[in-house]
Amino acid sequence: MTGSVWRAENVHVSFGTTPRSRALDGVDLEIRSGEIVALVGESGSGKTTLARVITGLQAPTTGQVLLDGEPLGTGQRALRAYRRRTQLILQDPLGALNPRHTVYESVAEGIRLHGLAASDPEGRSEAELVAAALSSAGLRPPERLFLRYPHELSGGQRQRVLIAGSLALSPELLIADEPVSSLDASIRGEILALLLRLRETLGLGVLVVTHDLGLAWNIADRVAVMYLGRIVESGSTEEVLQRPQHPYTRALLSVVPEIEGMEQTILTGEIPDPARIPPGCRFHPRCPALERGEASAAGVDEACRTQDPRLLPLPLPGHAAACHLAQVRAGAATGTATESGRTS
Ligand code: SF4
Repeated sequence: MTGSVWRAENVHVSFGTTPRSRALDGVDLEIRSGEIVALVGESGSGKTTLARVITGLQAPTTGQVLLDGEPLGTGQRALRAYRRRTQLILQDPLGALNPRHTVYESVAEGIRLHGLAASDPEGRSEAELVAAALSSAGLRPPERLFLRYPHELSGGQRQRVLIAGSLALSPELLIADEPVSSLDASIRGEILALLLRLRETLGLGVLVVTHDLGLAWNIADRVAVMYLGRIVESGSTEEVLQRPQHPYTRALLSVVPEIEGMEQTILTGEIPDPARIPPGCRFHPRCPALERGEASAAGVDEACRTQDPRLLPLPLPGHAAACHLAQVRAGAATGTATESGRTS
């Protein structure tokens, strides 16, 4: 499928004064129309900041976001046009919907802001555009919901109204921040099925921001795992979740109930303050492979403490990891030299 390509290139976002808090510390990520990418990590990993940067709501301190090779404009008009194509769906539908607005008003807001009824190629009225968006979000018959208020809806219906508000603008990329974290298990499945259907029927790209690797397993084509402002592992969902190479990914996966056969690893400590990123590998103070002696057996323990590993391709299809041990193991498996750590 041909379509649009969003690319975050070496994005840094820092806050505050010395020491600066490095919320994003050199992130590259690509998303294409028609694919679902899961951005996974614990709270504090920087994934929501990255989502806001890709949506154009947060300017990078350095680095850039490109759409089809063109940098995001900075003027109001350019940003408004970009945000119409790139829609963020917030994680708390009750908080995101105005309690005094009916469903109709909530969905019509964006249509009015962008003057879409006047320019609709099929000549549809505002009410027809609202109805079409609600239908696409699975709320049928849409007219029955027009006059309802958020408190009169179920959690799943509220999430669908938020999605309808985005769909009303005919976006090409949806960025869904923890889209099902506030929902019951049965409704979660319905919302995930809706995102999959929107990808199939409208060719939308979807970036799902989540702390839950199980959710990524159910829905995503590709996975990017974030830790403390960096992507530490990325690849196709099958590759990353069936052959995780980074100890952080392994630890996250080991506690997903749906994934069997992995020894459970409970990570110790909290994710560090992004104003005090540890030297060497930023994950090293919590790394189970370092703690268990696997890194020293491979001869990379010193590198773990002193050298910041880069996200490098592994000799596995489309798979990359920022880990000295993963690079040495992958090099040993194929008998090649690696850039980080020792040669095999
Ligand atoms: Fe662990 Fe070392 Fe890999 Fe970092 S580089 S994740 S400390 S093994």
